[in-house]
Amino acid sequence: MDIFGLRNRLVQDYSNYIQSFILIQDARVRKYVHENIENGLLWPDPLIQLNPSFETGEWIDDLVQHEVLHEECTRIFRIKEDPEEEGKPLRLHQHQSDAVKAAKTGNNYILTTGTGSGKSLAYIVPIVDHVLRLGSGKGIQAIIVYPMNALCNSQHGELTKFLCYGYPKGAEPVRFARYTGQESDEEKQEIIAKPPDILLTNYVMLELILTRPFEKNIVDTAQGLRFLVLDELHTYRGRQGADVSLLVRRVRDACDAQDLQCVGTSATLAGPGTYEEQRKEIADVATKLFGDMVKPEMVIGETLKKATPETDLPDPSFLEQLQVRISDSNLHPPTDYQGFIADPLSIWIENTFGVTIEKDSDRLIRTTPKSITGPDGAAKQLSNLTGVSETRCIEVIQEGLLAGYQCSDPDTNFPVFAFRLHQFISRGDNVYASLESPKSRYITVYGQQFVPGDRSRILLPIVFCRECGQEYYCVRIHREPDSNQRTFQPRDLSDRYHEEETEPGFLYNNPDKPWPETIEEIIERVPNDWLEEHRGSSRLKKNLRKNLPERIYIGPHGRGSDEGLPFSYVKAPFRFCLNCGVSYGARQVSDIGKITSLGTEGRSTATTILSLSAIRHLKNEDSLDEKAKKLLSFTDNRQDASLQAGHFNDFVEIGLLRSALLRAAKNAGPDGLSHDELSLRVFDALDLPLDLYAARPEAKFRDLEDTKKALRNVIGYRLYHDLRRGWRVTSPNLEQCGLLEINYSSLRELCKAEDEW
Ligand SMILES: [Zn+2]
Repeated sequence: MDIFGLRNRLVQDYSNYIQSFILIQDARVRKYVHENIENGLLWPDPLIQLNPSFETGEWIDDLVQHEVLHEECTRIFRIKEDPEEEGKPLRLHQHQSDAVKAAKTGNNYILTTGTGSGKSLAYIVPIVDHVLRLGSGKGIQAIIVYPMNALCNSQHGELTKFLCYGYPKGAEPVRFARYTGQESDEEKQEIIAKPPDILLTNYVMLELILTRPFEKNIVDTAQGLRFLVLDELHTYRGRQGADVSLLVRRVRDACDAQDLQCVGTSATLAGPGTYEEQRKEIADVATKLFGDMVKPEMVIGETLKKATPETDLPDPSFLEQLQVRISDSNLHPPTDYQGFIADPLSIWIENTFGVTIEKDSDRLIRTTPKSITGPDGAAKQLSNLTGVSETRCIEVIQEGLLAGYQCSDPDTNFPVFAFRLHQFISRGDNVYASLESPKSRYITVYGQQFVPGDRSRILLPIVFCRECGQEYYCVRIHREPDSNQRTFQPRDLSDRYHEEETEPGFLYNNPDKPWPETIEEIIERVPNDWLEEHRGSSRLKKNLRKNLPERIYIGPHGRGSDEGLPFSYVKAPFRFCLNCGVSYGARQVSDIGKITSLGTEGRSTATTILSLSAIRHLKNEDSLDEKAKKLLSFTDNRQDASLQAGHFNDFVEIGLLRSALLRAAKNAGPDGLSHDELSLRVFDALDLPLDLYAARPEAKFRDLEDTKKALRNVIGYRLYHDLRRGWRVTSPNLEQCGLLEINYSSLRELCKAEDEW
């Protein structure tokens, strides 16, 4: 799969979506915004990072032979794909071997390595080895605590492979169980009655186990506990860190664990200082958390290695080879492993995106993720080194990375370059402009108080009429009680705070269509429902006069001033557009549906659009396995996850309904659909399988008819509901998109019939 192509399609879809909302009338602002979006304001260049290779450690079988591990480990720790299989021998990474040996010393230890480094084996192997030596069924020997159930579940899956695959049911050498609160009552009872050797849980559950009487047997069988593992140690910070560290002390007490060995795993730390300084820092924190000494030498980091041969990069002869290699467009990366790693381009790529040497030591560390394109990108760097054009450099780097993913190391079966592409996507902020004439005002998308270098000109956010794209400054007005001096300050569109001396509002300045001053002209421009009949002519309703736009002269410093430019000020909520005249009822208090800013489009919709786009494009990738065509989404809390799931469902449902309406309208031909057949035709076009909507899909005869009728009625209601105007600003309905035209029976005849009027 070409990940760079996928990224471009994804960003293109999102760009189309975002730009479909940005209706801007002012030509200068429009040009400025579009240029900035094109230049990556909302989606900077993606960053590339190679997953480094780890230095290899010992084979499990060798550790068994040297009696470091129990002999049964040979059967357990193998690479197994299915339950019947015996599996292939397993070779540890260097840091895993180091951890197994650290565990043997009886000291507490911490493993701090990156993602995909097999952290869990660093404690699973020693724990299983301990249980094997002691004999299974002697009570709980190890408690492993995960910060999230998802991690616990995936570890449970891994343990199943090692401890169950290849063994007859009931004859597993070591027993383990998950106890997180997700289990059925029956499973819980079984675990309480017969606790396993290894218990997987989360810290909240562990706290409960210590306190609830009915789980006392778990604590009783954990007396003399040997291992307490805290996975993802770095997640415990602040108050939660304090909670967990006290929990560790309570566990030690409650289980009377004199010889407790504490183990932690942690992400790699990107803190300041050398490797040695970082180890000491981690050891200090861990000592506090565990309430027991962790020595700096018991902090185990990852040992990286290069796939490509050690090369002196600035060496002129290497640079020449590199230059020759990339300037010839007929040359492509070798497909065989030995050829690939010897390719000068591969060497350069690994040294640029993969690993680098730590300052003041000869330790290999991961490089900071880097973009290919852009002024600080790798292509520019390669171009400067070799004199080859930047365009060609982009091409060869992408080709080299993709080829490195296809080519794998014959020993490990891992790709030479497994790389990650990080794409940041933002929904944008505001456009800001100075209070000057549209022809000369300063425009920026970077939020700041003043025009750069000029503190006498303030910047205010501008927002746009959803109907015509007319811009308004979104302001808050302050009145000095004594002098009546007015100042204007930036305001967030959703900020509606209102008090006597301060109120939210908008400033309008359109020299092509200024707001009029004579009452006759004003009556022409206000919405119809602001007028009433009075002695045969129209006049403004009295109670609305206070809402009329007010002319104020304002200087670039944001204060009312006779020397300033004329602006028309209107109070929020936005009642009607001074340019196009679109009007809103007094009860519609929120302005989000009437006015847009660069950054107001919902985060949920943006996520939904991006997710759908990713899945749609993945589905078309023939080179991927079906099971790989998926998207994993993370949010930082459950409420957001629930909201997003609901949003996603809703989006799909509305999309389905609208597509059925569109198909039904197309099928109906030029005559269109009439109201009385609408729901039936849309129901037919939807053509949903019965089991998707019927409570009893086996329904027959009259029963079946009633079931279908129920759905038709729902569809009939939902169709009209969806055709309301403006109820979804982020997904305008089919009529608003111009895909559907609605006519009204006898409307023309009625209009012509003078006697009816
Ligand atoms: Zn307008």
